[in-house]
Amino acid sequence: MIYPIFVYGQPVLRKVASNITPDYKGLDALIEDMYQTMYKAEGIGLAAPQIGLPIRLFVVDGSPLAEDHPELENFKKVFINAKIIERNDTLELESEGCLSLPKLNEEVSRPTAIRIQYQDENFNSYDEKYEGFAARVLQHEYDHIEGKLFIDYLSPLRRRLLKSKLTSITKGDVDIIYRIKTI
Ligand code: ZN
Repeated sequence: MIYPIFVYGQPVLRKVASNITPDYKGLDALIEDMYQTMYKAEGIGLAAPQIGLPIRLFVVDGSPLAEDHPELENFKKVFINAKIIERNDTLELESEGCLSLPKLNEEVSRPTAIRIQYQDENFNSYDEKYEGFAARVLQHEYDHIEGKLFIDYLSPLRRRLLKSKLTSITKGDVDIIYRIKTI
């Protein structure tokens, strides 16, 4: 099943999401549907709040970008109950987009490496370090389960300049290939 993607203005995108347990109903189907929804929208990451569910779950598949970012080869994973516990001090500026902010690409400054603890779809626990674009993708998706969006990192001036674009997104007034959910 392909879900509509909740876009900027939807309150669920601003909630701190809750942990889930292995008895979460329909989890396998949900994960599969999230992948299908993400592929349909040509994204490389999708977090549960983006389909209206305030739970700590996101999926990534960076393989479409592996040519430019070798660290994304085989970077297809499910992250449940994730917690970023370390970020390095080196920041890097790079362009980001988001399925919940269609047609908006902005330079975002983020730490270049992180350490993250999470569980996979079978609730096996991991404690791993990531760097490069993988670290960026994970920080972006992690922000979604913390109720944050990449525009939060822009300067007040830059956000003011984007105001009319953001208003259009909130109203669903954007020409895109995937189905969205607006107010
Ligand atoms: Zn996003």
